[in-house]
Amino acid sequence: MQIIRKLDELNEFLAPVWADDNDLLAYVPTMGALHSGHVSLIHKAKEVAQKIIVSIFVNPLQFGPNEDLDSYPRSIDEDIIKLWAAEIDYLYIPELTEVELESLTKINADREISKILCGKSRSGHFDGVCTIVNHFFKTIKPDFAVFGEKDFQQVKIIEQMILEQAFNITLIPAPIFREASGLAMSSRNSYLDDQEKTQAAFIYESILKEKQLLEDLLFPPQEEQILNSINTIKEKLSNAGFRVDYVEFHWSRIFVAAYLGNTRLIDNIEIVT
Ligand code: AMP
Repeated sequence: MQIIRKLDELNEFLAPVWADDNDLLAYVPTMGALHSGHVSLIHKAKEVAQKIIVSIFVNPLQFGPNEDLDSYPRSIDEDIIKLWAAEIDYLYIPELTEVELESLTKINADREISKILCGKSRSGHFDGVCTIVNHFFKTIKPDFAVFGEKDFQQVKIIEQMILEQAFNITLIPAPIFREASGLAMSSRNSYLDDQEKTQAAFIYESILKEKQLLEDLLFPPQEEQILNSINTIKEKLSNAGFRVDYVEFHWSRIFVAAYLGNTRLIDNIEIVT
């Protein structure tokens, strides 16, 4: 595994890959503090490409002023060991100075998709995501990019950005990787103590409990009962000590964002499978 910190090194290492049509390149963007969910994305990448590049960059542009940029978990030494073990080819860890955030081309996330769910409560978040992903797509020029369905709205927004910016990149979505308890893995889970982690698994459990009912209510759509079912999930979460941001139905999925203490957790489950 080649560790790359500078743009000129990136160009040097990737030039032969770009030049070889038999060497397809798959890219897995991350913000580090890696867990098995990230590694599952790497496995997915290996299904489609010969060469794998992972980036680690905690992107300031996607954090709001009152969010956790400063406290976001960073564990670069452990991350490097995990990536060695996962046998990737390149790890790109640009310094903050290397990326020159102010001079990046600003990309606005799709208006429609970014005004719902996390876009509503995290103003500017998806513009920050698109701006940095656009930059990394331009510099890394991968054939494939793997994104987790844990951030399903992000998948939809990046798919749209790929179309609008006419990138020749195929987005590969990867399913949510969960703890045995059902809790969706997330770097932010490190903010939780053991008892909170057990409690946090209730998000998945509460959606799962309504899944069958919701499936039955969809064909033909019975709107009032669907709303009741969504409210049941909200109530259960509130009663269990969560501060609910949203529980909503889009793209045949139930989406939840809820705070446990100061930690914002998100999850989603496909209802029609
Ligand atoms: P992050 O480092 O949190 O920005 O995540 C980097 C990528 O990993 C994103 O595409 C996420 O959607 C994905 N990811 C994070 N957690 C999971 C998970 N539990 N299962 C699948 N993908 C994940």
